[in-house]
Amino acid sequence: MITDALPRVFWTDRPGPAAYPALTEATTADLLIVGGGFTGLWAAVLAKQENPACDVVLVEAERIAFGATGRNGGFIADSITHGLTHGAHRWPGEIDLLLAIGRENLAAIAAFVAENNIDADLRLCGKTTAAVAPHQVAELRAAEKRHRDHGEDATFLDAGEMRTDVHSPTYLGGLRLRGTGGLVDPVKLAWGMLRVAEDLGVRFYEHTRVTGMERSGSSVRVPTVHGMINAGQVLVATNAFPSPLRRLNNFVLPVWDYVLMTEPLDAGQRASLGWAEAQGITDGGNQFHYYRLTADDRLLFGGYDAVYNFRGGGSDQRPESHALLARHLLETFPQLEGVRATHRWGGLIDSTSRFTPFFGTAMGGRVAYALGYTGLGVGASRFGALAGLDLLARRETRRTGLKMVRRPPVPFPPEPIRWPVVEFTRRALARADANEGRRGPWLRLLDRFGIGFDS
Ligand SMILES: Cc1cc2nc3c(=O)[nH]c(=O)nc-3n(C[C@H](O)[C@H](O)[C@H](O)COP(=O)(O)OP(=O)(O)OC[C@H]3O[C@@H](n4cnc5c(N)ncnc54)[C@H](O)[C@@H]3O)c2cc1C
Repeated sequence: MITDALPRVFWTDRPGPAAYPALTEATTADLLIVGGGFTGLWAAVLAKQENPACDVVLVEAERIAFGATGRNGGFIADSITHGLTHGAHRWPGEIDLLLAIGRENLAAIAAFVAENNIDADLRLCGKTTAAVAPHQVAELRAAEKRHRDHGEDATFLDAGEMRTDVHSPTYLGGLRLRGTGGLVDPVKLAWGMLRVAEDLGVRFYEHTRVTGMERSGSSVRVPTVHGMINAGQVLVATNAFPSPLRRLNNFVLPVWDYVLMTEPLDAGQRASLGWAEAQGITDGGNQFHYYRLTADDRLLFGGYDAVYNFRGGGSDQRPESHALLARHLLETFPQLEGVRATHRWGGLIDSTSRFTPFFGTAMGGRVAYALGYTGLGVGASRFGALAGLDLLARRETRRTGLKMVRRPPVPFPPEPIRWPVVEFTRRALARADANEGRRGPWLRLLDRFGIGFDS
């Protein structure tokens, strides 16, 4: 299936906007944004909408949407806490507010897309979580109640109902959520945001890597490869990449996640899946897949392997992970035997120890950062950008009052300890999946310290 797949990202392997020139001389900015993914793009748009006179400059080391923004599955969630269950466990006293903010955030994204005529195939079709191991059935039944208790449209489906909806022999049950997110073409969204930001007067420089940052009087001096920027304020939106603000690297674990995209399914293949609503699907478990159809009926299939390499090394090509995905795709949909993958790629997930983003300031409040969405940032990045702008403006808002915004996560240990600890934890999670979800002593210890994920 993957022999002929191009080692490229499908989403960006399409005609897009012309490249912006790199910065080659000194310049100034009222607000400098470092990183041209969703967080940086939202920050640029929102800052300009709030204050059109603000001179906003965005610099990107590669191309706009080079990072996770251009490589993701396009699941767009209304949760800013990596899911209701996780958020409720971490911040039980704030979960209702977190949910409300998340819902408003998604509604604002949908309104922005509509108002600006962005053709990003945004469909708020909800999602389904599939149980593929017996213990996940009970977990999803419990999750149905939890979602309903918080006013969400959740329906538990037994194996027969699941398989009638989407024809996979792997399903033992499922949870259909409606009205809580959906799917988007991430790069068409990013390119649409780029157009809006440019119309608002944001200046863009691509192939312009920031190499450091230092306070200088009332501003911040930000060297890039070919030119210095003197900025009044800086928003760091570099996600899983080594940050120009070095301290952030203690909190972010760059984890590789891999994806396959098939050729467009023919009418027979498409019909063989059922899947009338074409909603996004994830399966349960600590190691999970996510999969979805595109506007032209390709199947995107990703996840399962989450790879952290020593000192954060690795690349967006990992043949063994792509081969495993191909095998799992056919186990999920044996009727697609013979389908070809046209693209295979990987991207960096910015994992934090608490699985949610974090925020803060540096250099006397002139620099703020928003990062660490841990693989669920397509929607949450707008919230992240707003929280970052709040911090720069030193204003107290509903966002900045949240514990998630005020408190940092537990840092990861440095190398050479980091890799063995992460690997040990990864194996413990795989053992829990194989052991009916039962978490061993190591995971229970991490849980007690608020480290890890509660789905
Ligand atoms: C394979 C994969 C699948 C995913 N699937 C989903 C999904 O289905 N749903 C979901 O909600 N989330 C998903 N995510 C996560 C989501 O894509 C991210 O949370 C989101 O895109 C983060 O946006 P960002 O702008 O913060 O980071 P990024 O998009 O990574 O942007 C950071 C940018 O900063 C630039 N940069 C870094 N260092 C510098 C520097 N020194 N100078 C200048 N520029 C710099 C980078 O080149 C990069 O373009 C997925 C992620 C991956 C990798």
